[in-house]
Amino acid sequence: MTGNALLSLKNVNVGYKTLTGTVYAANDINLDLYESDALGIVGESGSGKSTLAMGVLDLLADNAKVTGEAIFNGKNLIGLSEKEMRAIRWREISVVFQKSMNSFSPVYKISEQIYDIYKVHKPSATRAESDAAITRLLGVVNLTDRVLNMYQHQLSGGMLQRICIALSLIFDPKIVVFDEATTALDVVTQGQVIGEIKRLQRDFNVSSILITHDISVVAETCNRVAVMYAGYLMETGPVRSVIKEPLHPYTQGLISSFPTLETGKTMIRGIPGTLPNLKNKVQGCVFAPRCPRVKDICRNERPLQRSATPEHMVACHFFGRE
Ligand code: ATP
Ligand code: MG
Repeated sequence: MTGNALLSLKNVNVGYKTLTGTVYAANDINLDLYESDALGIVGESGSGKSTLAMGVLDLLADNAKVTGEAIFNGKNLIGLSEKEMRAIRWREISVVFQKSMNSFSPVYKISEQIYDIYKVHKPSATRAESDAAITRLLGVVNLTDRVLNMYQHQLSGGMLQRICIALSLIFDPKIVVFDEATTALDVVTQGQVIGEIKRLQRDFNVSSILITHDISVVAETCNRVAVMYAGYLMETGPVRSVIKEPLHPYTQGLISSFPTLETGKTMIRGIPGTLPNLKNKVQGCVFAPRCPRVKDICRNERPLQRSATPEHMVACHFFGRE
């Protein structure tokens, strides 16, 4: 990918301090997001996807320690004060969570709650201004302004999630992060909401980061993908080449676990084994204990990211050495 990065992560590490040791949830992450980019971050549950994104936005629990750089508009987001960060969150970088739809209160109309959020970022705004701003966006997610007069219990999960997506766009952010934003929805609604995410990616001048364990969602909505495993980046590249020609044995296993991505396959192979304990610092490749191709070097030496093409990177000892 050429062009300037909109958001550039350099050696980002996140550790959670616990009574029994530190959980190393994101390690030495280097990743760029470009203008009009749709980047998917994919990996099993517990691989550190949310930790990485929320660490950059300072939305993690107090026991998290984030180090490294996340350069946005020439500023390092890591280490900003809460006040400085508040000026960026929502206005510049907004987030839609899996559980966003549960965050509405049952006792106020939707429009009142949207107004409350709107005022936090624009204290002088009137209710009419807030209503107009959200109405403009409801169409993008296939809703009408009828929902503004309704209460949370009168709306389905899919409708509430759509309102959250509309709300994420209200200040024209540069980046929207979707963290498992469609996971809690039924399959049909998920398909519709994915369609709407695609539409907003196309029609708004916004870059997106879509976090999911489902690589088929990435295949449908993203142009680039970063594959995470146990807190490490395994492979990054254009979605088409990563899916067609995955270079890391982990990505290969992940893709063959989704039969819809490989036509003609009836057996789901899966990846034997489970995620390692993230409290143990790894000397070699973190995937070595589960890797079908493991050799001595994998247990002893951390593989560095290597370029297959200028856009496609992989952290595996065997890439380019066969
Ligand atoms: P999922 O797909 O389930 O959302 P994920 O890839 O987003 O998973 P994270 O939620 O980032 O994974 O979690 C990464 C690791 O960090 C997990 O082992 C998790 O248990 C651990 N973790 C998350 N929050 C904390 C915390 N506050 N304290 C200690 N460990 C934590
Ligand atoms: Mg998560």
